[in-house]
Amino acid sequence: MASVFTHAFFAAAMGGAFARRRMPARFWVLSALCAVAPDADVVAFAFGVPYGGMFGHRGFTHSLVFAALLGVAVAAAFFRDAANRAALAVFFSLATASHAALDMLTNGGLGVALLAPFSARRHFFPFRPVEVSPIGVAEFFGEWGLAVILSELLWVWLPAAFGLALVLIFRRTTQTEPPRTGA
Ligand SMILES: [Zn+2]
Repeated sequence: MASVFTHAFFAAAMGGAFARRRMPARFWVLSALCAVAPDADVVAFAFGVPYGGMFGHRGFTHSLVFAALLGVAVAAAFFRDAANRAALAVFFSLATASHAALDMLTNGGLGVALLAPFSARRHFFPFRPVEVSPIGVAEFFGEWGLAVILSELLWVWLPAAFGLALVLIFRRTTQTEPPRTGA
């Protein structure tokens, strides 16, 4: 995993790029939850499920199928009356899938079962600059945690903030002026 904060931050940046108007608080909370939800699979360790199995860590919950299902479920459950519900379903699916994408940039653990349940193969990006986050909380407070934070700031937070800024600037410059009314 990348750290929980980084997954949530990345989803928030995606939300900022997606939202064209003021969004309700639940939009932001659900974006962050979708982005961290795949790591709920760490409970698999407690049940003795092997890491490399289909339902082990970075297994099915990190797949594109899971991301699509969760995105549709969240939009259906929490935005039942929204006119842009389909777009929201796509957005929440992408927010969930962003988790797998960030994990695929990390330099440790096993890869991500992107195509589960059809394939158990684990995938990484060829370029993996992000220091892998420890699974236990205790190891996070120390040298390892510091290395994780620094690499995530450099390789995730900075590019995400830069990308969001570009989208917002582009949107502002291309926004059409509202028609003036009056005599
Ligand atoms: Zn993960």
